[in-house]
Amino acid sequence: MPRPIQAVIDISAARHNYHVARQQNSFSGEPVKAWAVVKADAYGHGLMRVANALREVADGFALLDIEAAVTLREAGFRQPILLLEGFFDPEDLYVCAEYGLTTAIHRLEQLRMMREAALPVRFPIYLKLNTGMNRLGFKPEDIPAVRRELAETSAVASVTLMTHFAESDGARGVDWQLERFRRMTEGWNLPVSMANSAAILHHPQTVRGWVRPGIMLYGGSPFADVDAESLDLKPVMTLTSRIIAVQEIQPGERVGYGGTFEAVRPTRVGVVACGYADGYPRHAPSGSPILVNGKRTVTVGRVSMDMLACDLTDLPEAGVDSPVVLWGAGLPADEVAAAAGTISYELFCALARRVPVVEVGN
Ligand SMILES: *Cc1c(COP(=O)(O)O)cnc(C)c1O
Repeated sequence: MPRPIQAVIDISAARHNYHVARQQNSFSGEPVKAWAVVKADAYGHGLMRVANALREVADGFALLDIEAAVTLREAGFRQPILLLEGFFDPEDLYVCAEYGLTTAIHRLEQLRMMREAALPVRFPIYLKLNTGMNRLGFKPEDIPAVRRELAETSAVASVTLMTHFAESDGARGVDWQLERFRRMTEGWNLPVSMANSAAILHHPQTVRGWVRPGIMLYGGSPFADVDAESLDLKPVMTLTSRIIAVQEIQPGERVGYGGTFEAVRPTRVGVVACGYADGYPRHAPSGSPILVNGKRTVTVGRVSMDMLACDLTDLPEAGVDSPVVLWGAGLPADEVAAAAGTISYELFCALARRVPVVEVGN
């Protein structure tokens, strides 16, 4: 019998969440299209699994690795596929041409490479504009040179103007970036792509052209103070395991490495087959939420490589073999992430290869 840990991936929830993203009212009244953002192995959920779940519904797929893009094409996906970080080497351009990929362009040299590559066919590009994130993209002063390059190249089939928001989940919002975007693109009547999950859900003025939902597809809330359920998002990944041992300890006794948890009452400690080598965050402190037998309790002591412990004192019916949910259905990953001082994105992406995955919801 394998170790009892499992990640259950509900692909019908992914389809539901995609529709939530897609059905946000568009700002202009024109229909909106949505890239399903499947970078990082679909945020740890499995690229092919999620892509197949969305095969009939997704307008396009956005990711980072050109090999992953080719894998999707070879698996018969006909939708547009967008390389969010662009290409890394002139050789990649021939792959883009051959497989009909769309690439982000964020540096002038990339446009020069395209012009010089003598490509067999043209393909679409996304021009990335830096409106304040200061990660990738062109600044206002670069725009004249970009427009000159574009006028000289015959490799570009179409141009979409793209930007990314730094604080769409926070108090500063998006309007300051939208204003920079408007100024940078004045007189350029081209399609746009701006909104990530937080912008889609909270900033309708960004819901135009092609939106780019990521975390919301996986049922995570992009906001620290709004839970996923109230956004009509369903958890896709549920990380489950079982209690594999129970320890009865006396007040003053401690649990785990470093003895960071000390019992203040007679305590029943449940040992769970899940540790940081499975992707559970080691920095989750004592008191992080966990479900045993469908009931909430808390973790105690340090997370070790293969195990963690929880308090069963108030769950007398729980014992060896009781089912445990680390996050997912019944316990939002966002809550566990918040307890660990991180975000659900990181929990999902960290799911370890050694955890067996079961797909449901077909
Ligand atoms: C990852 C990513 C997204 C998706 O962001 P979420 O916050 O997960 O919705 C959108 N656009 C770009 C450029 C990204 O890199």
